[in-house]
Amino acid sequence: MFDREKGRIKVIFGERGANFPYSNNLYLEGKEVKALVDAGAGEEKLQALKARLPVERVYLTHYHFDHVVYTYLFKEQAEIWSNPIDAPNLLDLRQLVRTIGITWALGEEKVAAWLADLQADRIKGQSLAPWGRQEWLWSTGRVDGTYPYGEPMDLGDLPLVFLHTPGHTAGMACLWFPEEKLVFTADVDLTEFGPWYMGEDGDITAYRQSALALLELPAKYYLTSHVPELLSKDEFYRRLKEYLQIIDHKHEKILTLWRQGLSVAEIAVQGIFYPARFQVDPWINAWEQLTIRKHLQLAEGE
Ligand SMILES: [Zn+2]
Repeated sequence: MFDREKGRIKVIFGERGANFPYSNNLYLEGKEVKALVDAGAGEEKLQALKARLPVERVYLTHYHFDHVVYTYLFKEQAEIWSNPIDAPNLLDLRQLVRTIGITWALGEEKVAAWLADLQADRIKGQSLAPWGRQEWLWSTGRVDGTYPYGEPMDLGDLPLVFLHTPGHTAGMACLWFPEEKLVFTADVDLTEFGPWYMGEDGDITAYRQSALALLELPAKYYLTSHVPELLSKDEFYRRLKEYLQIIDHKHEKILTLWRQGLSVAEIAVQGIFYPARFQVDPWINAWEQLTIRKHLQLAEGE
């Protein structure tokens, strides 16, 4: 059932290479508390876990769909814990959509219409952004507790610390397990796409700082949410450097086009983050434009 184990930490790799909308999850077998970290590995995998082992708590690293999607499977038996900053998004879907940047682009009316369609299950067909998925409704709306940042906790012979690592979202937490010397880096994920800071609460500078701070830990192993491998520190360091360089490459491209006189919408067509064909999806187009603006604002401050 588990793909890797380090002591009381059990790793469940996400389906389909842990690519979005799946994610790697942890099962924490503390003597006192049995907990799942994120709920995005896949319905089958998490149903199998639920059938065989107790899950008393679900810790969510942040509010994004691919990390919370299967939370509903555990709602009856487990408490749902979030970081304190992202909790309001998990409690209120309308707030979540605002924080992730969609309301900024579409406006309140279109968001209200979307929510009504979702609630009436009127949205058919799949899109790259998961805005048609019913799990939005099933897996949000409840937070039973918030975990503090930076304070050592113990689930029973299983100490851990939730680290505040803003940038991807304002509240995202990475997990540090000092005994096993393992870091769960959540969406500092080392994917080919590069760092994702496209929501309204995403921050390019904070992302970089948070990612680099993970190297300061006396860690041996790193696990990201979207790479199904346990990485050594050297490997994580090597891949992180390349991954963060993607920010610089995209930054240069955007600035070059801006200096040529292109507007934000015209730069978006170039598909610097998402290819233009995906931008027929209004959420994807919103993120593309919002992110171009972030880069331009960053350049203004340089
Ligand atoms: Zn995320």
